[in-house]
Amino acid sequence: MRLQNKEVLLAWPLALHVLTAGYYYSDGSLHRAIDLRTNQNGNTEKPVYAAEGGTVDQIQSWDGRTTTGMQSYGNMIRLCHADYRDKPLQTRYAHLSRICVQQGQQVREGDLIGYTGATGNVSGAHLHFEVIWDGSRRNPLVWLDDDFTTADGGVYTYGAGEGPVPRENAASALQTLCIGPASAGDVARLQALAAELSLPCEVCG
Ligand SMILES: [Zn+2]
Repeated sequence: MRLQNKEVLLAWPLALHVLTAGYYYSDGSLHRAIDLRTNQNGNTEKPVYAAEGGTVDQIQSWDGRTTTGMQSYGNMIRLCHADYRDKPLQTRYAHLSRICVQQGQQVREGDLIGYTGATGNVSGAHLHFEVIWDGSRRNPLVWLDDDFTTADGGVYTYGAGEGPVPRENAASALQTLCIGPASAGDVARLQALAAELSLPCEVCG
């Protein structure tokens, strides 16, 4: 969406916001995208939502074997949004299992456009998400809010001078839950869920 100050705030393309790789990989090499976790309880096909309204300007179907060049994206969708500062703004969603839109289709922010998967050049299922402004792949986190966690401390987030899009509503999106009293068995299950979501979890009392 466009904020009142004309800045862009993109919507997260998945319901789960756990980064497994940032704009740089943990070895320092350039990724120019973020990777988002999709695997929960072995289910890796998660709905993918349009990060902003726009038009489907590129669709690619994976050939089922090639993992180089454009085919490395696997099944892929690119959306073209309204210009930002008079330059084109696009978002790309890769390694999908299914595509639910057609070339030229108009979408609204939050519309279902496909499902995550493991097509193209992947070692496991995840969503590869790019933000392309003025023809160059930018750090997607600079176009999103701060409502995310990282899979581990080695995941790159922001460079010097970079940060999330400031919220118009200043309240933090990060929240803390307090649950209980709970049985020892339920505590173990909640701890396992927290570990799966990469959330810090502390048992007290
Ligand atoms: Zn990626």
